[in-house]
Amino acid sequence: MTKKPKLIAFDLDYTLWPFWVDTHVDPPFRKDGSGDIIDMQGRNIKCYKEVPEVLKRLHTEGYLLTVASRTSEIDGALQLVKLHGWDKYFSILEIYPGCKITHFNKLKTKTGLDFSEMLFFDDEHRNKIDLQKIGVHTILVKDGVTENLVKDGLQEYAQRFQ
Ligand SMILES: [Mg+2]
Repeated sequence: MTKKPKLIAFDLDYTLWPFWVDTHVDPPFRKDGSGDIIDMQGRNIKCYKEVPEVLKRLHTEGYLLTVASRTSEIDGALQLVKLHGWDKYFSILEIYPGCKITHFNKLKTKTGLDFSEMLFFDDEHRNKIDLQKIGVHTILVKDGVTENLVKDGLQEYAQRFQ
């Protein structure tokens, strides 16, 4: 049987959406008349194209989905998660600055899962290096999360922990 992670965690900036929520856009965010998400300047805020489908599918398949972000724009990040309708997919949101080892220690405490049961997607190499130290398998994201990247990530995980 293929070994699967119990928990899949996602970074936010340049992983689920193509910007830094603390610098490139202007919170607060809201939906306009046509249902598009906009910021204070009226700019259209979009996530990476395949992200909604990926999250929906993983949630349906029974994975525990969480966020681990080190942004300082906590309110804005939470607003965007909610406006995208992803609050129904994510069980736990760890969003605050600092080394991501802290975020994963919290996830471990809250879920009772071991680090080896978690898979993480993040665009920053420094986070991958940090999480290697505690044994969280991290997939480096290049151009946002896609179906293929998640498929490859799950395969990589299965090979490592078979
Ligand atoms: Mg990022």
